Amino acid sequence: MITPNMHYADLKESYLFYHIAQKTKAYLEENPGTHLYRMGIGDVSLPLCDAAITALHGAVDDQAVKERFHGYMPECGMPSLRHTIAEHYRDRGVAITDEEVFVSSGASDELGDILDLFDRSCSALVIEPAYPAYVDANIMAGRKIVHLPASRDNGFLPAPCEEAKADLLYICSPNNPTGAVFNREQLQAWVDFAKENGSVILFDAAYEAFVEDESLPHSIFEMKGAKECAIEICSLSKTAGFTGTRLGYTVIPEALERNGMHFHDMWVRNRTTKTNGVSYIIQKGGEAIFTPEGQRQIKANIRFYKGNARILMEALDELGIWYCGGKNAPYIWMECPDGMDSWAYFDHLLHNMQIVGTPGEGFGACGEGYFRLSTFGSREDTIVAAKRLLESK
Ligand code: PLP
Repeated sequence: MITPNMHYADLKESYLFYHIAQKTKAYLEENPGTHLYRMGIGDVSLPLCDAAITALHGAVDDQAVKERFHGYMPECGMPSLRHTIAEHYRDRGVAITDEEVFVSSGASDELGDILDLFDRSCSALVIEPAYPAYVDANIMAGRKIVHLPASRDNGFLPAPCEEAKADLLYICSPNNPTGAVFNREQLQAWVDFAKENGSVILFDAAYEAFVEDESLPHSIFEMKGAKECAIEICSLSKTAGFTGTRLGYTVIPEALERNGMHFHDMWVRNRTTKTNGVSYIIQKGGEAIFTPEGQRQIKANIRFYKGNARILMEALDELGIWYCGGKNAPYIWMECPDGMDSWAYFDHLLHNMQIVGTPGEGFGACGEGYFRLSTFGSREDTIVAAKRLLESK
């Protein structure tokens, strides 16, 4: 008889967002027609910018013309897009080569697939509260997970320590769910720690475009020595509204090696075996994001979400509720009022204010007592949600 991957039995019963969707569905069945103010799941609400739409249309037209038609694409990405992304790094003073950039279908796929490069005996550090996929992907692979709880005391930005020793180190900055961002000194400390211990950092930069403080790093490769110990995984999902269009990129330096094995070359081998490249049309749409016009347009969209963040932060300030994030990230991480636990606060907001947020407990045990508000909603919904929070005073 075939043996299934029994590690799936170790996964928690339901994925956080699935559980939220179930509760929300049940509420709507009991209260049909009610409008909900969705500040929960981190999907965007603004459409793709004009530069991307024009490029997507142009690429569709190319597929109708024999001379411009594209079939299978290069597995590691279209050379012009790899060049454009590498230039984007180089413009910010990070010297990477075009070949170090791999085009992907998004960060989620990569965060799971990249684990193919590491032996199953490798342990994985997850700094919690964390994006749930880090834990689940490693449970599925049967890896040992080292949980490092962060807290309000360290601003949800813990420093490396003895208990944080592991082979793979997940670092997400700006962080989902806390919105906290490691400064240069703090991030350098993690790079130094990884190098000392021979670990590899998996740096999740999905929210780098939201960093507005010039002193804060966008990329792990801004840190000295990071090319010998880090892989960066990035996405156009939140940067440019590609959540449904699907495009991302991963940077694996050629200098990154362990035991004489070069992860860059291994990934080329992996991609050429396991993928047939990202669609030509989508890559053309993504390329437009890196043009000056594309950059101007996506920055306007990000500014819009930051406007939502300000509305929510002002309400929390007035209520005297502690929170972090919001400024350099699209998430606000707030303390639940009156000592409520996070699922109780979820139910309270849903039933009394028709607001849907995300309970902190879903991001790890140390997220209990906290709650995540997303700023990706519409302006109208955000204004009403803030007003309802204020009225609850
Ligand atoms: N990493 C983090 C921290 C995220 O919050 C998300 C999505 O919410 C992802 C990765 C996945 O991004 P993508 O849409 O590119 O798969």
